[in-house]
Amino acid sequence: MKIVACIKQVPDTVEITIDKETGVLVRDNVPAILNPFDAYAIEEAVLIKDSCGGEVTAITMGPPQAIAVLHDAFSVGVDHAVHICDSAFRGSDTFVTAKILAAAIKKLGGVDLILCGKQAIDGDTAQVGPEIAEFLDIPHVAYVKKIREVSEDAILLERMTETGIEVIQVKLPAMLTVLKDINTPRLPSFKLKRAAKEKAIPVWGIQELGLCEEEVGLQGSPTTVMKTFTPKARGNCQMLSGLDEDIIDALFLQIDSAL
Ligand SMILES: Cc1cc2nc3c(=O)[nH]c(=O)nc-3n(C[C@H](O)[C@H](O)[C@H](O)COP(=O)(O)OP(=O)(O)OC[C@H]3O[C@@H](n4cnc5c(N)ncnc54)[C@H](O)[C@@H]3O)c2cc1C
Repeated sequence: MKIVACIKQVPDTVEITIDKETGVLVRDNVPAILNPFDAYAIEEAVLIKDSCGGEVTAITMGPPQAIAVLHDAFSVGVDHAVHICDSAFRGSDTFVTAKILAAAIKKLGGVDLILCGKQAIDGDTAQVGPEIAEFLDIPHVAYVKKIREVSEDAILLERMTETGIEVIQVKLPAMLTVLKDINTPRLPSFKLKRAAKEKAIPVWGIQELGLCEEEVGLQGSPTTVMKTFTPKARGNCQMLSGLDEDIIDALFLQIDSAL
């Protein structure tokens, strides 16, 4: 089975601050990490490889330093990695990011399964995975919490909904976004970590992916950011205490009076 894990390098949001004057995220000197949800996508990809055979390729799109997340992926059992990096991709929104990742997956010669994290902790849109599936014209299932069975041409899985769990059988090739309940990511292997440094990581840009300047980056992105701001603290928080029933009644009273 050919599996791709899409992984993103993100700023460590615990340490992130917002510039008070511009309202923009201060990224300078902020440590970068593997998007936490993507560790679960990698782990699930490696688990499926271990039980069904095949190979796992990790793909990231990001600046030169994003290669670090590909080394992380090698150290937990990924077989191949591709770094998508080109200054023309700067300013890409989720639509263009997905278009570029889909072009890379096509260049790999097609795959059976694509795994993404539920969302990235910086952009936070949860759009990229499903958009990749749309560009590749394959089915997708979001918020997957358990994979029950993998066969040659289908996967039986559980996905979380607002009201419970749905059990779905999806035909392959397919794209899944995974929740953190799905597994416990393994610790990196020292041996694999050392070997990762020797692994060749192809870098693909606009030419390798057969894309043109107008369809990528800021100019190819249909999203327009109108305004970025930090919401004002309202400062009217009221702590409710007492029995659960009393708290719920008091809460509904407050909601009623606010409507
Ligand atoms: C107008 C505009 C300009 C922007 N300019 C820039 C910019 O210059 N630089 C910049 O860093 N960001 C930029 N962004 C943000 C960028 O579009 C998003 O970070 C990116 O598209 C991913 O969206 P997300 O973070 O919401 O990911 P989500 O959709 O929440 O991610 C879901 C999953 O998709 C996969 N995924 C997401 N992104 C990647 C990736 N890059 N590589 C591999 N897998 C991935 C991961 O598995 C992830 O868990 C811009 C956004 C807009 C709207």
